[in-house]
Amino acid sequence: MTGFFTKKETQSTVRPDGKVRSCHACGLYRNVLSPRMQPYGKFRKGILNVGEAPGETEDRRGKPWQGKAGALLRETYRRLGIDLFEDCLNINAVSCRPMQGKRNRTPTNFEIECCRKNVLEVIKQYKPKVIVLFGNIPVQSLIGYRWKKDLGGINKWRGWCIPDQDFNAWICPTFHPSFIMRSNAQELITVWEQDLERAFKMTDKEFPKYKEPNVQEITDLSILESIPHGSFTTFDYETTGLKPYVEGHKIICTSIAINEDEGYVFMMPEEEEQLLYFKNFLKNRHLKKGAHNMKFEELWSWKCLNTRVKGWEWDGMLAAHELDNRKGITGLKFQTYINFGVVDYSSEVDKWMQGEDSKNANSMNKLLELVKTQKGKQLLLTYCGRDSVYEYRLAMKQMNVIQ
Ligand code: URA
Repeated sequence: MTGFFTKKETQSTVRPDGKVRSCHACGLYRNVLSPRMQPYGKFRKGILNVGEAPGETEDRRGKPWQGKAGALLRETYRRLGIDLFEDCLNINAVSCRPMQGKRNRTPTNFEIECCRKNVLEVIKQYKPKVIVLFGNIPVQSLIGYRWKKDLGGINKWRGWCIPDQDFNAWICPTFHPSFIMRSNAQELITVWEQDLERAFKMTDKEFPKYKEPNVQEITDLSILESIPHGSFTTFDYETTGLKPYVEGHKIICTSIAINEDEGYVFMMPEEEEQLLYFKNFLKNRHLKKGAHNMKFEELWSWKCLNTRVKGWEWDGMLAAHELDNRKGITGLKFQTYINFGVVDYSSEVDKWMQGEDSKNANSMNKLLELVKTQKGKQLLLTYCGRDSVYEYRLAMKQMNVIQ
């Protein structure tokens, strides 16, 4: 059987834990009838469906979606005007059948990791417009390795059509057909069909091109006086902790986005004269303001700058909740990914943001240490600048939907 694999395909990928990820390390191919099942379908509409893993019937026939779940999927697609095997390409997150005795079983994390490079290779080769992910396993395969926070389950991911900038494709997670079959609840079937319909519409939608934010570092804050009255801005603080109630807490830097692409970022000045320009910005009710969780910016402005913010107009976190009240979806990182397809732009500074005591919101993080070096300071300023620009883009999108 091993002759089936080329050298490159079985080549090892060693990870920080020292464990190798390869077909050889996974070993599933040794005991199945259809080792490393090949992509199947004519792909006429550029849709790639990613399932979990082949089951008994698929393994016997050497093709995906051949059992009961496959029949339900095929029929549902047909009703929505899509032919599963003519219009789509079909693969699984794990391409060999996982078994427990003679029964199918869910693939392990290790098997998903071993098979990821096969899935990525298919995406690279076929360049799908839309990638539908069925259930937790493909979400783990294609989002999990880039998502440094809590990944959560399919309930959090389903229904979004994500313009993924790494894959240049819309990623559309939804429930696995087996789950729909088992539950047989009408509400779930409706939600599932709506998710799929939304995903299929993406085949005709232009893929949004990502534009890098252009954020200028400033030391002379008098430039803030040139922001035209009546304009909408978003602003964001990087601070020494989550809550400012103990001695020594500070706002380290601030960014202000003035439109969807541009903004300013600055280290908080020590001199009162410079600080005054910023306080005037905050106090000016003619400069409309948005933030992601405005009570954070409000509280730190009050505690550290003795200033009440005027001109509040938008809270991206609140709007995200108003638009969809699922748990764990309102954070800026999640919203930036699902709306703009940008994943993990914070990992370089994340570790410096952890408090010494994770249970105490007043505890100090390590950002003051990070900004002692020029490189660290640049990292934080870049990250902070992106935050306010993404907040601006998000606010514009949300306003469009809500208003
Ligand atoms: N279930 C899957 O996840 N994939 C298949 O190919 C068949 C059933």
